[in-house]
Order: sequence, then structure tokens, then C-alpha cells
Amino acid sequence: MIWSLLKILIFVAIVAGLTYGAGLLMESDGGLRIAMADTEITLAPLQLVIVALVTLAALWLLFKLVALTFAVLRFLNGDETALTRFFTRNRERRGFQALTDGLLALASGEGTAARKKAAKAEKLLGKPELTNLISAQAAAMEGNRPLATEYYKRLLGDERTRFVGLRGVMRQKLDEGDTETALKLARKAFTLKPGHTETQDILLRLQADQDDWAGARRTLLEKKRHGALPRDVFYRRDGILTLQQAMHMQAEGDSAGAHAAALEAHRLAPDLVPAAVMAARAQIADGNARKATNIIKKAWATQPHPELAAAFAEIAPRETQAARLKRFAALTKQAPNHPETKMLLAELNIAAEDFPAARRALGDLVEKSPNQRVLTIMAAIERGEGSEDAVVRGWLTRALSAPRGPQWVCEACHHIHPRWVAVCENCTGFDTLSWREPPQDSTPSPTQTEMLPLIAGTPDGADRSAGGAGDGKAASGTVADADTSEGTTVESADAKKAGAPEKDGVGSAPRG
Ligand SMILES: [Zn+2]
Repeated sequence: MIWSLLKILIFVAIVAGLTYGAGLLMESDGGLRIAMADTEITLAPLQLVIVALVTLAALWLLFKLVALTFAVLRFLNGDETALTRFFTRNRERRGFQALTDGLLALASGEGTAARKKAAKAEKLLGKPELTNLISAQAAAMEGNRPLATEYYKRLLGDERTRFVGLRGVMRQKLDEGDTETALKLARKAFTLKPGHTETQDILLRLQADQDDWAGARRTLLEKKRHGALPRDVFYRRDGILTLQQAMHMQAEGDSAGAHAAALEAHRLAPDLVPAAVMAARAQIADGNARKATNIIKKAWATQPHPELAAAFAEIAPRETQAARLKRFAALTKQAPNHPETKMLLAELNIAAEDFPAARRALGDLVEKSPNQRVLTIMAAIERGEGSEDAVVRGWLTRALSAPRGPQWVCEACHHIHPRWVAVCENCTGFDTLSWREPPQDSTPSPTQTEMLPLIAGTPDGADRSAGGAGDGKAASGTVADADTSEGTTVESADAKKAGAPEKDGVGSAPRG
């Protein structure tokens, strides 16, 4: 604002100065008298100024003429390009000026201006590899996708600009959502420049999106070869891709391939829980119970997880509850103080109908981290010990409004996934899921939980009114998971519940 005002003021001052100067010249009496031979010319001051300007212009023209004369002489001497050089030098200078203006316009975000300057530069310079690039970027900046693609395609013809053109068209296709064409282009760009990090990442993402896990692993290897990936990250990601490959093979019905891939995935990423689970299941399917036990034991020591316990139960699906409790000791002594271990032990004891032991196993979890599963286990213990229905319902009510406990949470966007996936369903981040407590805002809304005591009663208050909202929500125990995956339906577990109330909720253990 102030700058514009200043500019106007300066302009007015210059005009005033010129007018004043011209007035002075007109009024002044002096002049220049030139005497030459017989003629004598007298120039008034104003005329003097005009003559000076004309002389300057004539001198400039003279220099140009001299240069032209030399060019003609050189041409006559046999230098064929001398004349064209004389004329193109001028064009070139203007062309580079237009190119500079175009680049500056591009940098300042003026797409239309940049495209105009690029067109002018192209006319003067004839360097399409430079001007097409500016035009393409300018068109993309304006949001004119077809035009941008058109310019990028022109860059494909020249070997020097092929990669830039490919990358440009690929990005346009990605923006359009045409992932199939984008994948083809990314593959081509990758063969041209395997070390280009951005291309590697795009190719990897597109391959993962389209279940091309073998291709994605090759891309990852190339990425590591070009030093863009630390070793440990490479092995973990390679493990994840291999696990995805295994899951894909399983879905396609190739169980032998899936087993081999699962073991490979576990070898590459030993800390990855779903890989350990799948590898253990592969060993169980092949009849290697000991190997399966070892895989789960090791994985439990680093990260106790309900899915590991479920797979561990599958090793001996028909054992008695007492035998199961004894066998699981190999697992539970790995990380005895971990909440997951405590809950598992409590669930196993409930299944074996040793309720005091279940209570002891749970320890201080009810006070320290009362999540849905812990409180549901408490309800099962109370029921098993023959407490009143109202007390049991009280625990279940508390469970409803309690935090859900650890989940597969995306570290990038906090989206919660019911099962582990390699690519976040919300933000499409790769390898962003971790098993932990979700942020607090994902628990039920306050208005919802405020009504609960009225509906179902409180765990220890006097108001223990009737109503059974809790049972359906009972967190499925790990061992119960093993049961369902093994073929027994959830309904049968529910039927057991109805028949024998002592074995309610998490206590519904596998057959045998
Ligand atoms: Zn996410």
C-alpha cells in the first residue's frame, strides 16, 4: 500500500522534473552555433537535446551496421554461419530473456504468465526440452491436467528429458486416480532410474495397492541397494511384504507357498506379531508342534499378544483345561508381569474353573488398568464364584464404559484397525500400525455412558437394578478366539453360556 503510494509520488516527481527541465530549455537564450565552411547552424537548447538523442541512435545503428558488414565479409570468406549467427544472437538474447521471465513466473506461482513466456522462448530459441518443461509445470500449476500431460508427453521423445516426462505423466495419472497406468509408468521410470527415491516409493505403494508383493519386494531390495534404507528397516519391511505375499497366497488357495512365505516373513521380521502367528500356524499345519511352540514362546517374550495365545491354543486343540493350563505355563513365564500375560492366565483359570486362582492371576490390573477385557474377566470370576447377578452385571456395565485396551493403532493418524494390516486403511501409511492403547477419545461418548447406570446398574453402588446390556459386549478372550478359529461357532459358546452360567463370557474355552 505504502509502496504503491510511493511509486505514484515518484512518477509525479519525474513528470514534474521533466516539464520543468523542458521549460527551462525553452526559455534559456543560449545555444550552440556550429560553423562549417560557409554554413553556420545555430541550435536552440531544445533542439540540442533532440540532436544529441538522434546522434546516439545513429551511433547504435552504425555499430550494428559495422557488425553486419564484418559478418558479411566473413560470410564471403567462407564462414557460412557468420550471417545466421549475427541474426540469431539477437534472437537468442531475447529468447533467454523470455526463458528467464518464464522461470521466474513459474517460481512465483503465475502459471498463465509462465506459459506465455515459455511459448515466446520456444519461438525464439527452439529448445523444446526446456520450454516444454516450463509449459508442463505451468499447466499443472493452473490445474489444466490434460494440457500438462500433453506437454509432459512431448518430453518423452528426447532421451535427456524422458525421465522428467515420465515422472510428470505418472504424477498426473496419480492425481487422476488412474493407478493402473501410473503403475506401468512407475515401472518404466524405475528401469530408467532405479536409484530415484521418489519413484521407488511411488512404485512400492502402487505395487502394494495392487497385491504385487513379489514386485514390491524387488523394489524394496533396489531401494536398499541404493542406500536409501537402513538395514534393520529393510528387513522389517521385507518381512511385512513377505507376510502380505503369504496372506495373498493363502487367500488364493496356495497353502504350501503361503506356509513357506510365512516362515520367511517371520525370519525377516521376528518382532512382527502377525508374522509370528502365521508362521506358527504354518508349522502347526505341517505337524511341527515343537517348532510352533518355540516361535510363539520367543514372540511372547518380546510382545505378548492375544493372537499369539490363540495360535498357542491351536497347537493342542483337544487337550483338557488342566493340561492346557500346564502347557501355557511355558508361555506365561516368558513375561509374567505383562498385563497380557496376567489376563491370559486369568482366562485359562476361569476355563479350568479355578476362580480364586483367576482372581490372583489378574492381580492389580482392576485398579491399575481397568479396560474392557479386565472388567469382563472380573464379571466372569464373580459369576463363577456364585455372586449375585447384579454384581456380575455391575462389572459388565463398568466394562462398557471402560477403555478398550490395546488395539492395532496407526501411529500416523490414530485410526484403529480390527486386525493388523500392512497399509493403514485410513491414511495409506505403510508399516504404521502398533499394538497399544488407542488415544482416549476413541472410548464411547459421555452421553452414551451416562445413561448406563440407569439401564444396567453399577458394580458396587446400591442401585443394582436389573437389565443385562453387558453380555454381548464381553471382550472375546484369547483362548476363546482359538476356539472360533478352529471351527466352533460363537453361537455354540453362547449356548454353553445359557446352559451353565458359571462358564460365562471369557470362560467359554475350547472344547476338550
Ligand atoms: Zn493411518
